[in-house]
Amino acid sequence: MSALILDGKALAQKTEETLSARVAALKEKSGGQTPILATILVGNDPASATYVKMKGNACRRIGMGSMQVELPSSTTTEQLLSRIEELNSNPNVHGILLQHPVPTQIEERDCFDAICLEKDVDGVTCLGFGRMAMGEKAYGCATPKGIMRLLEAYKIELEGKDAVVVGRSPILGKPMAAMLLNANATVTICHSRTQNLAEHIRCADIVVGAVGRPEFIKAEWIKDGAVVVDAGYHPGGVGDIELGPLTKRVAAYTPVPGGVGPMTINTLIYQTVDSGERKIG
Ligand code: NAP
Repeated sequence: MSALILDGKALAQKTEETLSARVAALKEKSGGQTPILATILVGNDPASATYVKMKGNACRRIGMGSMQVELPSSTTTEQLLSRIEELNSNPNVHGILLQHPVPTQIEERDCFDAICLEKDVDGVTCLGFGRMAMGEKAYGCATPKGIMRLLEAYKIELEGKDAVVVGRSPILGKPMAAMLLNANATVTICHSRTQNLAEHIRCADIVVGAVGRPEFIKAEWIKDGAVVVDAGYHPGGVGDIELGPLTKRVAAYTPVPGGVGPMTINTLIYQTVDSGERKIG
């Protein structure tokens, strides 16, 4: 039997229709106000510039506003902190996205943590992470939250399942593990010092690949009937998991591209609309 395809592109498109309607309703109710996402791009990394542009385009598609802040690669931590402060206190801004990575002279963690909680729609602050992990109200980190929304939309059962997350980065693996734990999965987090990685993965009902290495997780490590989530995207259209041989023998999988990727931006705008509704509505 063929596996269920967890189609992030389709879900993101469907969600955009709902978000457009919510933005339009808010605009009407408030005499023309819309949620606004402020994006901050530091330096001129072309990939980061493309991501920021895609986020601005997504805002436009749903009728929401965006504000682009572009800073030179020589920006200091203090200068960036001061721009974040300005956006925190700007009542017209409902969400703040600091595009990662920033140039190396900047203390990225300090800058992420300067974003106030109610505008942390990308879910990058320590405070937001801690609250999310404790089951308190906070916006989820966009990629893992997007994965959770995708699993939920396809009614993938998580409770009591053995989930293995490969990767423990602050923006992906760690929050992913906490979200799966909150959904009552039994979670194992693997990383570069994990021994017997293949053995851990063989036990998994749900595998999340967040390693950043093309097809690093081999198909033969994954058991029949598992749910496979691949956060990676590399040149040649492959992810972090060797998906090809799995499509006929797993229960469900996220395609690459079109699985996790579209859900990240979608979650960012989804959470910004929520923030805008709280403030304006
Ligand atoms: P990252 O910060 O580089 O983290 C990679 C993680 O993989 C680290 O925790 C690292 O372990 C672990 N790792 C590295 N080598 C390993 C090995 N041999 N065995 C087991 N674990 C190993 O990457 P990231 O930002 O989390 O991104 C992960 C992937 O997701 C990338 O492919 C990235 O492109 C993708 N991504 C996609 C989106 C999206 O919107 N679709 C967003 C973000 C990221 P240590 O902690 O021990 O070093």
